[in-house]
Amino acid sequence: MTGASIRRVVIVGGGTAGWMTALALARMAPPHAPTVTLVESPEIGTVGVGEATLPTIRHFNVWADVDERTFVRETQATFKLGIEFRDWREPGHSFFHGFGDHGPEIAGLSPYQQLIRLGLTEALDDWSLPAQAARLDRFQPPSTDNRSLASTYSYAYHFDASLYAQHLKKLAIAAGVAHVQGRIVEVEQARETGLIARLHLEGDRSIGGDLFVDCSGFRSLLLGQTLGVPFEDWSHWLPADRAWAVPCADRDTIEPYTRSTAGIAGWRWRIPLQHRIGNGHVYASAFQDDQTALDALIQGLDGEALAEPRQLRFKAGHRQRFWVGNCVAIGLSGGFLEPLESTSINLIERGISQLVQLFPSGGLNPVLADEYDRYMVNAFAGIRDFVILHYRLGRRAEPFWQAMREQPIPDSLAEQIELFEATGEISIRDPESFGEPSWAAILFGLGARASAHHPLADREPREAIERHLARGRDLIAQHAGRMPPHRRFIEHMVQGG
Ligand SMILES: Cc1cc2nc3c(=O)[nH]c(=O)nc-3n(C[C@H](O)[C@H](O)[C@H](O)COP(=O)(O)OP(=O)(O)OC[C@H]3O[C@@H](n4cnc5c(N)ncnc54)[C@H](O)[C@@H]3O)c2cc1C
Repeated sequence: MTGASIRRVVIVGGGTAGWMTALALARMAPPHAPTVTLVESPEIGTVGVGEATLPTIRHFNVWADVDERTFVRETQATFKLGIEFRDWREPGHSFFHGFGDHGPEIAGLSPYQQLIRLGLTEALDDWSLPAQAARLDRFQPPSTDNRSLASTYSYAYHFDASLYAQHLKKLAIAAGVAHVQGRIVEVEQARETGLIARLHLEGDRSIGGDLFVDCSGFRSLLLGQTLGVPFEDWSHWLPADRAWAVPCADRDTIEPYTRSTAGIAGWRWRIPLQHRIGNGHVYASAFQDDQTALDALIQGLDGEALAEPRQLRFKAGHRQRFWVGNCVAIGLSGGFLEPLESTSINLIERGISQLVQLFPSGGLNPVLADEYDRYMVNAFAGIRDFVILHYRLGRRAEPFWQAMREQPIPDSLAEQIELFEATGEISIRDPESFGEPSWAAILFGLGARASAHHPLADREPREAIERHLARGRDLIAQHAGRMPPHRRFIEHMVQGG
């Protein structure tokens, strides 16, 4: 242990990462609860995108005491059952990555093993309740009765990122977080230890603390700029480095899913909210110029653009360490992977949950920082592999896609693909991230073929499995058809019904 107990936490940044961290730390119970101060600069502003999430955000909201109905109302949120991938495998083809398995286990095995055995993997979506509900624009929360088919899926949200930050800010301030506005112009380090001691703000103000959480966005003011932690650059694996973002007018239907449409050098997102649709185009600038990328985005809009398009620039990768001395980076300051599977807010949640678990109430201890780094590096690597997988297997002909197919990939991913093709086995390296159903959705959706299935799948007679699967598919279709339209469900909820 080094030094005294950690009583004062200072968070730098008031974007999604800053306010999520502030609220979570303010919810810690005594005697661990620190005092929390959040500093942000209105002049610098937030990145302001980040509208699609993963189901884990619900755990964060429950844990941080964020009431669902109020949250849905205040952030213009909609429900998300997964992602529809259009034109990824080849133009005109689509598939769905739903939050849930493809039916219940069959004789102790994941159902996809029987689908491989019977040669039915092309129709995988037929066994996905979230995919079927999404196809009909229906939504209903899953059942809590885990014997029910209706308990076999999950959901996340789409929301307006700036409204989410404002909502969290209100809750965090009510929970005791002190809010300071001003630009940090100097970071003072203790001469002997190198620990961060004080932040100096414009106008001769300063703030001291015991632990500093860097949520300063891509600037990485503390961890990157002040402490000089190098960036692990993954842009050779994930070369998309720019995005255009623009909201447009909504339509009558609110789809309960994100859409990702592949383009000549990247992909476009479409995220329906209650009051508008969020759109963006992620592309690799080495393969497409800014104007062509913007034109492709504008041409694909469903309605009138509601603001000037904004360009964002980024690089795939992460800082080599996330926790150094008394500084922990959470959010974009720690790293970024393109938002193909909506993973940035999930990484924020995971960073916060580790920080709370390893909170150095009794003093700084390098073992805590090492454990935090190990966890976050592994989390980033798992998501990196999953995202690269999307680019690896498609058959699009443009130079960008050819390059993505031919370039070397991380060994961990190469092994996973090889194992799957040889045995039908999906090996999960990071159990807290995307599980077997998610990998199956992407592998089969992109047309991967397994040359074998699990040997135990053959214990069940083929005809019995065929009947079982046909019945399961019918039940899923019927169940999806009984759900209410997504828009009606939201209206009922926000009106307090
Ligand atoms: C194109 C794109 C699309 C994305 N889509 C998704 C998505 O669909 N789903 C998802 O989960 N994530 C997505 N993300 C990521 C998501 O936007 C971020 O993870 C999230 O917004 C968190 O950002 P942040 O809080 O780390 O940083 P920011 O929002 O950039 O906030 C930084 C804060 O630091 C403050 N600051 C910086 N320097 C100083 C200073 N000197 N003094 C005082 N304050 C300072 C700023 O004022 C600001 O408040 C996307 C990102 C991009 C680029």
